[in-house]
Amino acid sequence: MAPIASDTLASMSLARRDLLIQSGTLISSLAALSVPLFASPRFAKDPFTLGVASGDPTASGIVLWTRLAPDPLNADPLHGGGMDQAAVEVTWRLSEDEKLSKVVKKGKTVATPNLGHSVHVEVEGLRPDRWYWYQFQAGNYTSPIGRTRTMPAAGALAAKLNFAFASCQHWETGWFNAYEHMAQEDLHLVVHLGDYIYEGPERTSGVRKHTGPEITTLTHYRNRHALYKTDAHLQRVHRLFPWIVTWDDHEVDNNYAGDVAEDKQTRAELLERRANAYQAYYENMPLRVSSLPKGSAMQLYRALDFGSLAKFTVLDTRQYRTDQPCGDGNKPACAEVFDPQATILGATQREWLFQTLDRSPARWNVIAQQVLMARLDVAMRAEETFSMDQWSGYEADRRKVLDFLGARKPTNPIVITGDIHTNWVVDLKADWKDEKSAVLGTEFVGTSITSGGDGSDERPNTAAQYQRNPHLKWFNARRGYVRCELTPAHYRADYRIVPFVTKPGAPVETRTSWTVENGRLGVQKT
Ligand code: FE
Ligand code: CA
Repeated sequence: MAPIASDTLASMSLARRDLLIQSGTLISSLAALSVPLFASPRFAKDPFTLGVASGDPTASGIVLWTRLAPDPLNADPLHGGGMDQAAVEVTWRLSEDEKLSKVVKKGKTVATPNLGHSVHVEVEGLRPDRWYWYQFQAGNYTSPIGRTRTMPAAGALAAKLNFAFASCQHWETGWFNAYEHMAQEDLHLVVHLGDYIYEGPERTSGVRKHTGPEITTLTHYRNRHALYKTDAHLQRVHRLFPWIVTWDDHEVDNNYAGDVAEDKQTRAELLERRANAYQAYYENMPLRVSSLPKGSAMQLYRALDFGSLAKFTVLDTRQYRTDQPCGDGNKPACAEVFDPQATILGATQREWLFQTLDRSPARWNVIAQQVLMARLDVAMRAEETFSMDQWSGYEADRRKVLDFLGARKPTNPIVITGDIHTNWVVDLKADWKDEKSAVLGTEFVGTSITSGGDGSDERPNTAAQYQRNPHLKWFNARRGYVRCELTPAHYRADYRIVPFVTKPGAPVETRTSWTVENGRLGVQKT
């Protein structure tokens, strides 16, 4: 059933003129679709069920996001989210105060069916380093008021940056208790390192249920994102802070590598699936139009500056990688691990990373990425064993990155990582086998929001892991997120832990804190 009860049909010529102001990409997509445009629809139900979000801040701009979905889990391809095959005008305003009484920017955009009725407004001309509040309107409904923040001006060395990073939020394995606490934090921004959704089918176990089969179609991926976005705690963290996002594997398919699927899909099948998944990811994240997918390709690696206090280089270690070596899994390193042609970044991204770091004036160079960079013997067998899905499976690329850090010495490199549903604090070493060799940087790995269930402080092989990996400083297998405080003098990581996720209402504690001092490589217990 159509949720739009009555409408004002605007002329397409007028609509195109409005659109011209917003985005050249949307014009062509809407013209190509030739769908009707509703300027003042009457919704029978609130279309803002998925909340609002903002992201990719600069010193002068921000992306504002929402997606119209009055019936968010409606999986009918022609009425996805409860919307029809029509474009809907969405107005927005942005204010200097939370009551929206000092509006400094406003405008119109169009939510189109070909982008799942999502909108991505790129606001420009804002003042640096301050909070703003924003709201959308579509027809007879207004959205919740979101809060967002611009970055400090270029060259400004801010006194402090507070951010939190998170990853891996399997819906079925838990409640988003960690986000309930993240919403209470005093943060400038949030970084998400991937596994925002999981692709698996509905399971019989689990505290919450996926719907339907393993997801492969655009409608499937849209609905899975919508399911996750219905979570009130997740919505709240999106509403309160700008996010910087990147994906890992489960946004498409477990442990896919470039154009190689986990299962028996052909390359063509995987690329079609990847195109669906990437489009739904774009539609559901506060990303710039520069990340709009082109078929099965999407530009996600990018850099963001918090004045001169911090530069985030956000990596994509999935789209460009070669297949996992040695048949994937936890294995002793076979010859393929050392294949000079194998790559986890791809040559283009790797060169971009090196050039970006080489030119960076930032006090802290934060490399935000997916899988464990440090060499880590998982200590599950008598012989050394590594995860072939991590950087330990791609020795040539890791050697190039570590050699770059050693030779070019970008200031205070810090790697932040997700993927493995456990907390790790580890130094990056020039020679892993030589305890006296140079420290090149520090890697903070954050645990999952929910994936893996309640978790534990230790595992049977924890003692062996410490013994076999002297660069490993701390390990923990509880759920939570990592809160980071950066000043010109230090980078401190606070490991925020929730004791359970299989029921709502968990407390939070800072289990441990680790600090890197400016100009002194290597992590220290705070
Ligand atoms: Fe995960
Ligand atoms: Ca993963």
